Amino acid sequence: MTTLFIADLHLSPSHPDLTQAFYDYLEYRAAEAATLYIIGDLFDYWIGDDAMGDFEHEVAAKIAAYADTGKDVYFIHGNRDFLIGEAFANEAHLTLLDDPSLIMLGDVPVLLAHGDAMCTDDEQYMEFRAMMRNPQWQQQALEMPIEARQAIAEQFRADSSDANANKPQNIMDVNQQAVAELMGEYQVRTLIHGHTHRPEVHDFDVNGELMRRYVVGDWRLDHDQDIDIGWEIRHDGLALTLEEFSLSELAYD
Ligand code: MN
Repeated sequence: MTTLFIADLHLSPSHPDLTQAFYDYLEYRAAEAATLYIIGDLFDYWIGDDAMGDFEHEVAAKIAAYADTGKDVYFIHGNRDFLIGEAFANEAHLTLLDDPSLIMLGDVPVLLAHGDAMCTDDEQYMEFRAMMRNPQWQQQALEMPIEARQAIAEQFRADSSDANANKPQNIMDVNQQAVAELMGEYQVRTLIHGHTHRPEVHDFDVNGELMRRYVVGDWRLDHDQDIDIGWEIRHDGLALTLEEFSLSELAYD
């Protein structure tokens, strides 16, 4: 019984090769799995289920077709696609989970999160996050015309890349104390998250207990720059492993 975890694909209509890689992933690499967890930022942006176009409907249909082969698919919101709602979930035949969510892998409790809520060193981002995750703000945003939402989303992305360009690298990583607190609160020794684009397995000690934090990497496909890399975390029934693979060769492995 294989369980897979992926995050930070950042799919968008402007990157069809990457979208095809996701479809290939579902059809080939993820075919043997029983359960797939998408832990945020499947999409590069999401401005509301009512604004779905052909691209979003197609991705939903592919996930639904995958789920209909007898898989359970779960989704945790990322900071880019936090407005995904029940309409998309129903169309994609997936289940929305809270961030964070406690799951069981065999008899081991594991905490899943997108990861951005633990980046507490980035105070500017934490303020922005609090605003975006406020239900009232979300309600108001969703009542705006689609064109206005599109403009705001583009502005947010531009602002965030400007701001991030000026931030020291370490403040955009998770804060170790925030990690330890969250794991303590949920009484887990294993945490899986994405968001930071820093794929790694971190072992650390809290009061003599061994804790492990798995970070799944982002998917990047850019033929011009010779970048072709996807990441997953895989549970084969016994062990959890961080795996790297080629996105363009998924259909030929
Ligand atoms: Mn993210």
